[in-house]
Amino acid sequence: MCTPAKIRKLDEVVVNRIAAGEIIQRPANALKELIENSLDAKATNIQITAKEGGLKLLQIQDNGTGIRKEDMEIVCERFTTSKLQKFEDLGTLTTFGFRGEALASISHIALLTITTKTADEKCAYKASYINSKLKASPVPCAGNQGTIITIENLFYNVATRRKALSNPSEEFTKITEVVMRYAVHNSAVGFTLKKHGEPSSQVRTPYNSTKQNNIRLLYGNPVARELLEVELDDKDYKFKMHGLVTNPNYTNKRMVMLLFINNRLVDSASIRKMLEDVYSVYLPKKAHPWCYISLDINPQNIDVNVHPTKHEVRFLHEDTIVERIKFALDERLTGNSASRTFYLQA
Ligand code: ADP
Ligand code: MG
Repeated sequence: MCTPAKIRKLDEVVVNRIAAGEIIQRPANALKELIENSLDAKATNIQITAKEGGLKLLQIQDNGTGIRKEDMEIVCERFTTSKLQKFEDLGTLTTFGFRGEALASISHIALLTITTKTADEKCAYKASYINSKLKASPVPCAGNQGTIITIENLFYNVATRRKALSNPSEEFTKITEVVMRYAVHNSAVGFTLKKHGEPSSQVRTPYNSTKQNNIRLLYGNPVARELLEVELDDKDYKFKMHGLVTNPNYTNKRMVMLLFINNRLVDSASIRKMLEDVYSVYLPKKAHPWCYISLDINPQNIDVNVHPTKHEVRFLHEDTIVERIKFALDERLTGNSASRTFYLQA
């Protein structure tokens, strides 16, 4: 006879570590959260350094508002945030963060250090965190206004995850993709991405640039010179779209989609499929476009809570909205294919 195993309550540290692993799956996820925090803090310059694909070291420095010294004690605790107070606020939220889980999560699976200075303080303060808690009181130090978040040895205590992420160059590629995408979307903000110890940067965009200019800098002239601009302001379903998509002269082996919904980098299977459909009419088989699409949807129509990583966004009237975007793109591409025929014959 088998006796049932005794049910025990899991240790809190274990619970938190498991929860953290669901939110932060790889260095690129952590970086996305940190970039969004810097943007929420009104940074105009964001510098990122990575060592071993962000697994050994991932550092992000911004020139934003900084964090108050008195908040440093609780900033890495779960559900501590400066952005949300009551449930109803979720409907009108304009910041990226809202539930204060990113820093807490990271501190459960890495050593996290914050160096920060607000405009009011005379000096910066530095503190390290493990499992949401300060390791020691913040110490004064030199520093510019803004915040430096340093993450060391990500997943040091999650052996299986660490093993699964055994290829630092693959992780660095993912990091680079995240930075390039945010740099295109937030072209007013200057971004830099460097490998630790190397003088040259992998990504560098100037402050106060434009989307088109950053696309040229980061994705090259072949993309930049074939871009069509598509805009849509739909009063019925209360959404706006701004797209920069390649015309039928451009083809690529795989589709590149930069999708932002309410300024958040997301993925959407339905939008991806719609793009493939639209372009299938204009491009040869196995040829794909490059598409940047930014959607602004009434926050009340978005379910931001759908997944802890906030990667997959669902919204009200999704099918109709996607259909309307498809129509707008198709119209723009049709208009352009006439000039293409001309161009090819010339
Ligand atoms: P959330 O962004 O959901 O509030 P986080 O864990 O990402 O949760 O951050 C917790 C809090 O720490 C934020 O609400 C913000 O007040 C502060 N914070 C985090 N990063 C920065 C930053 N780069 N600059 C200024 N404040 C920051
Ligand atoms: Mg955040």
